[in-house]
Order: sequence, then structure tokens, then C-alpha cells
Amino acid sequence: MIDFSLSDEHKALIEEARRFTRERVIPVAAECDRDSRFPMDVFKQAWELGFVNVTCPSEYGGPGMGELENTLVVEELAYGCTGIQTSLFANVLALTPIKLGGSEEQKKKYLGLLASEPVMASYATTEPDAGSDVAGLKTRFTQHGDDFVLNGQKCWITNASYATFYVIFATSNPELRHKGIAAFIVDRDTPGLRVGKKEDKLGQRASDTAQVFLEDVKVSKANLLAPEGKGFKLAMETFNQTRPDIGASATGLMRRCLEESVAYAKERKSFGVAIGQHQLVQWMLSEMAIRAEATRLLYQKAAWNLDNGVRDPIVSSFAKAFGADAAMQTAVDAVQVFGGNGYVKEYPVEKLMRDAKVLQIYEGTSQIQRLVIAKQLLA
Ligand SMILES: Cc1cc2nc3c(=O)[nH]c(=O)nc-3n(C[C@H](O)[C@H](O)[C@H](O)COP(=O)(O)OP(=O)(O)OC[C@H]3O[C@@H](n4cnc5c(N)ncnc54)[C@H](O)[C@@H]3O)c2cc1C
Repeated sequence: MIDFSLSDEHKALIEEARRFTRERVIPVAAECDRDSRFPMDVFKQAWELGFVNVTCPSEYGGPGMGELENTLVVEELAYGCTGIQTSLFANVLALTPIKLGGSEEQKKKYLGLLASEPVMASYATTEPDAGSDVAGLKTRFTQHGDDFVLNGQKCWITNASYATFYVIFATSNPELRHKGIAAFIVDRDTPGLRVGKKEDKLGQRASDTAQVFLEDVKVSKANLLAPEGKGFKLAMETFNQTRPDIGASATGLMRRCLEESVAYAKERKSFGVAIGQHQLVQWMLSEMAIRAEATRLLYQKAAWNLDNGVRDPIVSSFAKAFGADAAMQTAVDAVQVFGGNGYVKEYPVEKLMRDAKVLQIYEGTSQIQRLVIAKQLLA
């Protein structure tokens, strides 16, 4: 039996997230974009409602919801602002490897911390010379008795300026590539850890993105999350679980593009009629609707797989790859529907176009998704 309907609980969750987006996110989105300001008050309000660490298990005090619920909330918040949504959901990226690979003590301590206080955590694989090529990372760890010492640099780390702790991937020897990689949980106040400059970005400017420097950072064995040789697999499995979120984010952004474009197409006149009467404009609107619905089906299937123990990671990559590209094209089309007005900040769609671009870059670029998909096809 196949059933595409959402339960009453899902509908209520969507309604609550939609109200939060309308009342808290949309009113501050343009200003946060303009000033590149992360809205801490919105983060705290979202945390109170359980919209921040959605998949943090209830046994550690978290909301304890599944991946489907997580993605449904992502879609709603992304409708309001993908920059704010990215910052609210970076915790899920950091808590997922702990959920997947952490010891009971680590889960109690770090998942418990996220659940008990409105704090942030970051996930850090990327480095100046290793983005797409995660196995090429160079941040080194060395073992000294029961402790590890980390040296290196991470970049493009979401929420790094505010994080209370970081999940850091490092290698014993870069020449070993994926076989040398381990993962550590590093507290913000550990001596030698320093947060660098915040990036001045094209889009998603309400989200915080910064560098992290590690200079002789001592980490105890208790904070080893994945031993040497297991870190790369943990990073990849984390992405498998979080890529549906990018599909959901893309869907929220596309829904916004579509609604703004339909409203404008009914109002704006050319050649004596509303531009929505021109078939070439109708084509763009229809394509937007098709892309949004197709991405929604993909992310919901990927999320359903994860919630039901169905191992089919190719669908997570489909949701990410298709959704990110669909969102970019949809945002470009929304600017086109608005004509000259699409190109200025008085109207909402130029922000949507700037915000959409990073969906094709973070958590594995559109090119890397094709490689991941092809690898599974050819396996
Ligand atoms: C706003 C933002 C937030 C981010 N947040 C985080 C975070 O929280 N944590 C984190 O660890 N990282 C984060 N990242 C980093 C992000 O994951 C990387 O930027 C991304 O993986 C791409 O790496 P790169 O920038 O080094 O590009 P590169 O790897 O240098 O790629 C450059 C181009 O070459 C292409 N390319 C590279 N290799 C291949 C190949 N084999 N075949 C075909 N094409 C290829 C890429 O697709 C891309 O088009 C974030 C990035 C941004 C912009």
C-alpha cells in the first residue's frame, strides 16, 4: 500500500512552523540579510518550540522527532528565509554524528546540552584545501597517552562564531586519506581553539559562517567520536541523513518563489493584460510548481527511508542534487517574472536568488552529488 497523506500530527506541526515563520522569521529576514546579522532571539524562540534540534532523541531531552518531521519544519522555515533556517538547523548537522557514533557518555553530555539550553554546535570537515575532497583534509591529530592534540584550520563552518562545541574531523596522516580520518568533539573553550573571521556572503547572509583555527588543541579520549579510519564513514553517513534537509530547504525556497511570482503575475500588466496571461510567463510558473512538488516528493521519500530503516542513500542525493538545482533555476525564473523589479532589493525575489545559490554548494556540490549517485549506480 502506498499513502502520500500526512497525519494530523504532521499537519499540526506544519501549521505551528508556518505560524512561527510568518510571525518571527519573515518580519526580520530582510533586515538580517541586509546587515548580515544572525537573529539570536529567533534562534532562542525556535529552540523553545523544539524547532532547533528536531531529531535529538527524547531520551537525552530532545524533541525526539524523526527525519520526516525535521524536513517538514525545514520546508516551512526555509519559506521564510533559508539563511535563518540554515542557522537553526546547523545543530542537526552537528548532533547527527554524535547520535550515530557517540558513546553513551558523549550522547548524555552533548545531546543533553543541546536539549537543555539554547546553544549551538558546528560540524567541521571543510578546510581551505579540502572541500569536495573530504578525504584530502589536512588537520592533524597526534596521540599523547590518553589525549589527542589537534592542529589545523577549518573554514566555511556554519555557526562557528556562536558554537559551544564543534565536531571536528582530523587525520593522523593526510597520505592515508579516508583511512587516516578520525572525529572529535571539541569544546569551544578548549585552549588553542580560535574562531576566525566571519564570511561576508552573497546570500543566506543571516547565517553565520566562519573559520576555526586549531593550535595544539588538547582533546581527551572521552571526546574521541570516531577512531582513526572510522571518521570518513561517519562524515558520509551524516551527509546521507542530512541531505534530505537541503531538498526540504530548496522546496521552501521554491514555494516562496512561486507564491511571490503568481501574486506579481496577477498584478503586473503588459500589452494591456496581466503578465500571467502571457503563455511564456505561465510556462515559468508551471515549471516552478513542478520543480517544487518533485523535490518535495524526493525529500519526503528520502526522509521516510531514514525513519523506516530503508537503506537507499541514493535517494538522499537525488533530493539534494535535484532540489538544489531546481531551487536555483526557480529563483532565476522568479527574478525573470518580476522583470526589472526582480533585480532590486525592494522586491523579495533577488534575495531568493542569492540565497538559492549555496544550496548547490554546501553539503556536497551539485557536481559531487552526481559523483555520489554515479558511484552507487556503477557499484
Ligand atoms: C555558506 C556555507 C556554509 C557551509 N557550512 C559548512 C559547515 O557547516 N561545515 C563544513 O564542514 N563545511 C561547510 N561548508 C563548506 C562546503 O561544504 C564546501 O564549500 C563544499 O563542499 C565545496 O567545497 P569547496 O568550497 O572547497 O569547493 P571545491 O571542492 O574547491 O570545488 C570547486 C568546484 O569544483 C567542483 N569539483 C570539485 N571536485 C570535483 C570533482 N571530483 N568532479 C567534478 N567537479 C568537482 C565543485 O563541484 C565546485 O564546482 C559551507 C560552505 C558554505 C558556502
